[in-house]
Amino acid sequence: MAVSALQLFKLLPRTNCRECGFSTCLAFATRVVVEGADLTSCPYLPAEVQALAGTIQGQQEQGVGRKRDNLAIALKFLQEKVAPVDLASAAPGLGAVYGEEDGRPFLSFQYFYRPVQVFKDEVRYGQGFEPNPWDPILLYNYVTSGGRRPPCGRWIKFPELPNSVSKTKTLLRLQKQLAEAITGQAAAFVQGASALGGEPVNITPEATFQFIFQPLPRIPLLLVFYEAEPEENFAAEAHFLFDAQVLDYLDLESLLFLVERLMELLLARLDERGLSGEQ
Ligand code: SF4
Repeated sequence: MAVSALQLFKLLPRTNCRECGFSTCLAFATRVVVEGADLTSCPYLPAEVQALAGTIQGQQEQGVGRKRDNLAIALKFLQEKVAPVDLASAAPGLGAVYGEEDGRPFLSFQYFYRPVQVFKDEVRYGQGFEPNPWDPILLYNYVTSGGRRPPCGRWIKFPELPNSVSKTKTLLRLQKQLAEAITGQAAAFVQGASALGGEPVNITPEATFQFIFQPLPRIPLLLVFYEAEPEENFAAEAHFLFDAQVLDYLDLESLLFLVERLMELLLARLDERGLSGEQ
């Protein structure tokens, strides 16, 4: 089975020592899996990762070039799609602010609580944000959506979204990974979620905790977590819920990427807190 960036990240030492040339272990894991960076650049690979080296190398040889091509093709397609868009008219519907730099129009808004500027041929990120190669695809998808109806405040589960059957398995896998990562560390996770910008809410009273995140101006995500109860034979569960209008702003594929990105950022925070001994 293919190794995902998150799986690799969870096995790394997570000291963020930078000796591999990347500023965090998460960035390193992403580049290895998505872009084919050299796994052996990390001098501290644990035995579990070394055992996966052959699998990762095979993955890189088979899929990485194609993925990179996919990325370039998708980006070109979306930049062509955004070229005729009147960004000034689109700005209010997307919760963005219109601007111009030397006659080049752009939209600025918050992406995972950091400022981003989306030009028609370039994306600029605020200081301290470590972009993923797929971020521009997501951002151009958001900008070209046109944002028809504002969020309605009604939360629905992923399978309730139209045509989501084939992708539901991916979301369930992500939710399971997240639940396993949080279980036993709920207090540290809550601190990390708040530090990222999540708003604690109480929509489902029986949940251990729940947060609303705002990764994009018109896309709230609700995360609900239930801690494991071994005596009840109940494993920990994490559930993402979506605003019923979310598909006005992103397609299903991009939505899953958004969830995965949120998870990466949350797990990195959890890791920092775990390492620093905060609970
Ligand atoms: S991946 Fe390895 S070298 Fe890179 S920051 Fe993490 S521990 Fe350090």
